[in-house]
Amino acid sequence: MENPLTTESGAQTELVADVILIGGGIMSATLGSMLAVLQPNLRIVLLERSIELAGESSGPWNNAGTGHTGFCELNYMPDPTDGSKASSVARQFHLSRQWWTHLARKGLLEPGAFIQTTPHMDVVFGQRDIDYLRQRFETLTRDPLFREMEYTEDPATISEWVPLLAEGQKPDEPMAATRHPGGTDVDFGALTKGLAQIITDAGGRILLEHEARSLRQSPDGTWVVGGSNGRGGTFKIRGRRVFVGAGGMALRLLQRARLPEVRGYAVLPVGAAFFRCSEPDVVARHEGKVYGQAAIGAPPMSVPHLDKRFINGAEHLMFGPYATFSTKLLKRGRLTDFFATLRWHNLHVIAAALIQNLSLMRYLFSELAARPRKKFAKLQRFCPHADIDQWELAPAGQRAQLVTPDRRRIGVLQQGTELVVSNDGTLAGLLGASPGASTAVPIMLDLLQQCFPHQWNASWTSIMREAIPGFTAATDWNTATTAGDVDLERQPNERGDHKPTRNGQLGNDKSNS
Ligand SMILES: Cc1cc2nc3c(=O)[nH]c(=O)nc-3n(C[C@H](O)[C@H](O)[C@H](O)COP(=O)(O)OP(=O)(O)OC[C@H]3O[C@@H](n4cnc5c(N)ncnc54)[C@H](O)[C@@H]3O)c2cc1C
Repeated sequence: MENPLTTESGAQTELVADVILIGGGIMSATLGSMLAVLQPNLRIVLLERSIELAGESSGPWNNAGTGHTGFCELNYMPDPTDGSKASSVARQFHLSRQWWTHLARKGLLEPGAFIQTTPHMDVVFGQRDIDYLRQRFETLTRDPLFREMEYTEDPATISEWVPLLAEGQKPDEPMAATRHPGGTDVDFGALTKGLAQIITDAGGRILLEHEARSLRQSPDGTWVVGGSNGRGGTFKIRGRRVFVGAGGMALRLLQRARLPEVRGYAVLPVGAAFFRCSEPDVVARHEGKVYGQAAIGAPPMSVPHLDKRFINGAEHLMFGPYATFSTKLLKRGRLTDFFATLRWHNLHVIAAALIQNLSLMRYLFSELAARPRKKFAKLQRFCPHADIDQWELAPAGQRAQLVTPDRRRIGVLQQGTELVVSNDGTLAGLLGASPGASTAVPIMLDLLQQCFPHQWNASWTSIMREAIPGFTAATDWNTATTAGDVDLERQPNERGDHKPTRNGQLGNDKSNS
């Protein structure tokens, strides 16, 4: 492991950087890749507490790998006549794809290593949900982004689209389904590692087993990040700008930096687990990501889905998520994590948010109390013939759900992410969970404008507009066009393994036609 921060005698030296990235997940890696391309001579240092990059939420088994486009996420449309959120998230994901395409065209990323085309579908049961799905389909297909979506209530077509789901359903049970062929499965762990390579290729440093513990701003405006390394030593790095991309631990670090912008903010840990199947016979019989309706009271991130996953060149099925609970804010965190974020100024905020979300609490308790067989019954509602011996329940990532102060409601549980930037633009951090990794690129475009206004106005804006044709202004995602989008994915070939197709080349974005 590289450790340039301590001399051989163990004496501490102070490393100086232009930008310090705290955390080795998709967010820091995305920002680092942009900075490395925009200004390769920037001294970038990325600190990661663990022995590997993408070991937390960005790891492929710790998230669902859905390239969020609104094709299948029913939770984006509680009102089937309002497609605005689905369309906004779709446009944000297109910006992410355009950035990856730009990097692929420059030979900096290998798309086949992290993104695969796989249809995105919905399957619902019962007349009420069928009426909902049909209305949602009619709303969405008025938008060119969703025009390729298909809808069916025909049992034979559903059986062809999703044989594992159709087999064994009650014959008199009405079902409906939608299908969009342009969905993706993304291995955000492999992507994180690919983006991190761009940082090191440009001369940046990645320091594993370096845990940031303190952030202090000096009178000259620079920040000193202090912490401990895996050998029991300590380190200090001075940087002009710091990005806290520490996932669940971001709030704790921003609190330590005494950032007034996060006063009153709190986080609630919500863990997740998925059933996973790697039996080739079962895996081969399912394609795509199939989302269903969430149970009443369930939080939006718990919508059940059955996913084909492509990880390290192998195919698997994943079903979930199931809620779990721990006071850790990272999967590999400490039980004291959550308590360490409590302050006198956020206690009432968190209490108010909990009181307003009693149905969520009830849902979480029922999930926690459920034994594996009861959990498996949820999967069997989707796939009646699923055999418990072929599936294992595996823990996934830990979310730190953001709670923010509110003048009227005192505290509000947020579903999205929030980029927090200090007044002088030298410190930024990302809080919250969903839609997460899929929208890393627009989030970081926003950050670049806020933290590097001079460079942005001088030259970065034109470079980024060329690299990401759909980008108009980061604050204007909802109206960003998707023109010039690119086909990055690999398609399964006839033998079932994967070969690249048109990787990194410009293609027609059919969904935009
Ligand atoms: C169950 C689940 C399913 C999800 N499904 C999807 C999905 O289908 N599609 C999607 O787009 N998004 C999904 N997400 C969201 C997505 O995974 C996250 O938004 C994204 O991975 C967050 O990336 P990050 O870089 O902010 O955090 P992380 O990936 O958590 O990385 C943070 C890193 O910071 C490190 N760190 C923490 N503290 C310190 C410190 N003090 N010093 C140094 N390093 C530190 C951690 O070790 C970690 O490596 C899902 C999340 C979960 C939990």
